[in-house]
Amino acid sequence: MADRRLERLIELDPRVELLSLGPAELKSSLESWLTKCGEPRYRVAQILEAVYRHGATGWASMTTLPTDLRAQLDTHYRFPSIAPHEERESADGTRKFLWKLVDDELVESVLIPTRRRDTVCISSQVGCPLACAFCATGVFGYRRNLTAGEIVDQARRLHVLRGRSDVGMNVVFMGMGEPLLNWKQVATALDILIDSRGLDLGARRITVSTVGVPEEIVALGERFPQVRLAVSLHAARDEVRDEIVPLNRRHPLCELTAACRVWARTTGKRLTFEYVHLPGVNDGEVDALALAELLKRVPAKVNLMRYNPVEGLGFRRPTEAETMAFREAVAELTRSSVTIRASRGLDIEGACGQLRLAREAGAVPAGMSGNAS
Ligand code: SF4
Repeated sequence: MADRRLERLIELDPRVELLSLGPAELKSSLESWLTKCGEPRYRVAQILEAVYRHGATGWASMTTLPTDLRAQLDTHYRFPSIAPHEERESADGTRKFLWKLVDDELVESVLIPTRRRDTVCISSQVGCPLACAFCATGVFGYRRNLTAGEIVDQARRLHVLRGRSDVGMNVVFMGMGEPLLNWKQVATALDILIDSRGLDLGARRITVSTVGVPEEIVALGERFPQVRLAVSLHAARDEVRDEIVPLNRRHPLCELTAACRVWARTTGKRLTFEYVHLPGVNDGEVDALALAELLKRVPAKVNLMRYNPVEGLGFRRPTEAETMAFREAVAELTRSSVTIRASRGLDIEGACGQLRLAREAGAVPAGMSGNAS
């Protein structure tokens, strides 16, 4: 399995990765380690402040600590190794970041600024094993799960890089990978992002997006009831969804909607169904009807997205009029809200997997973009 590669890398560097421990665990680990070294307790607060509030990326920058203590800390604790590799900025202000990991793998994050709020889209896996038919990330398959530290570090770095501490920040798990297939690391990452002793970003500001792993949808609702859920539905009929989201063959719509209902009951919230519009595939009258029927069973709103083509995958981008027509067809049949989500970053391979795919294969011309979960 590809994850063995990560395990081997971790064995080669067995130091504790700071951002792979929840805030309470990290505090207690630092307390006991610093006490053994005869250091005063306030050092713990200094370190936590630097890690969580100031986005420190190495011991060298923590000049509030004595030099010899930093050297000692470095023998026992390490920072997650994500290094900036490439950055692109779209004409619409969207910024895309490609990070290089300790094993030279590449992952992406996207920063989408608006007047009132920034949204940061982060990855949870290198590649993805689910191979959705329209997705750029699915093209290069699965490499490995990200550690909690590698997940958090994307949000932590962009939190600092965006340079607008007066403006709130949303975090969405809509980058590369299926977060609920990496549940253990994602759950630790959520702890760090949410905990008031950690990044303290506010659970309501965080959305986990999944193509539908029923057991973990329920677990997400139980453990993080304030975190929002987006389900990449993309089709409301099994025969269509089986083709474009192969996970549906393992977890068909009846299982997925049952889990969504449990999530909604547990959290008292409506979820969002993401629906990428693939003309001629999931936009017939019968699809509109099936979606409206599904919305009777699950308290949800629908976000329609116009597909951004990925070369070689065989789907085209719908016209605005086509997407509008499908929206009208669904809206006529349901009381649930059905909106069309604006595309951002089209000129910089702004959707999941596109930039990495372009880098790896040289296959995606600038100006084209794809979709993911
Ligand atoms: S759409 Fe999401 S779940 Fe599907 S292959 Fe792409 S990254 Fe994976």
